[in-house]
Order: sequence, then structure tokens, then C-alpha cells
Amino acid sequence: MPDLLLNKDSLKRMKNAQCKRCLNKFQEKEIYTIQQFQYRSSPSYDWTKEFFDMLKIDEWDSFCEDCMRYYGEISNNAWLKYGGK
Ligand SMILES: [Zn+2]
Repeated sequence: MPDLLLNKDSLKRMKNAQCKRCLNKFQEKEIYTIQQFQYRSSPSYDWTKEFFDMLKIDEWDSFCEDCMRYYGEISNNAWLKYGGK
């Protein structure tokens, strides 16, 4: 019985991260933030941060992989439509 409790507890601790968009729970090591967009060649990270600021998302909000991919796509589309020269 104590073993079971311990396992449940550690499982809970492993999945204590939550995606801000879809509210899915996941393991902390699988957290994505918009900070990963600083490695994109375009748009620039400054532009990206401003874009997400409009969506009320900051660099410390956590997202799952799927939602990060979604945000990567819409920010890139917005860049192509409005941000590009
Ligand atoms: Zn999500």
C-alpha cells in the first residue's frame, strides 16, 4: 500500500506541467516555450516576442509540443503576411 501511494505521488510530480493552450498535462522535461523560436532564422526573435505579446503569451508560459507547433505556424504565417518586406 505505501508503495502504491509513493508511485502515484511520483507520477503526479512527473506530470505537473500544464499546457497553457490545450490544458493537457505532461512531463516537465517536455515543456515548450516560445523561447525556442529564437533559433528560427525568420522571423526575428524580437518580432516573435512582440507577436506573442499580443496573444498575451510570454517567454515563461509552457506549452505542449503540438501547441508549440501550432504557434510556430501561425506566427510564421503572420510574419509572411504582415511582417515581411
Ligand atoms: Zn497544448
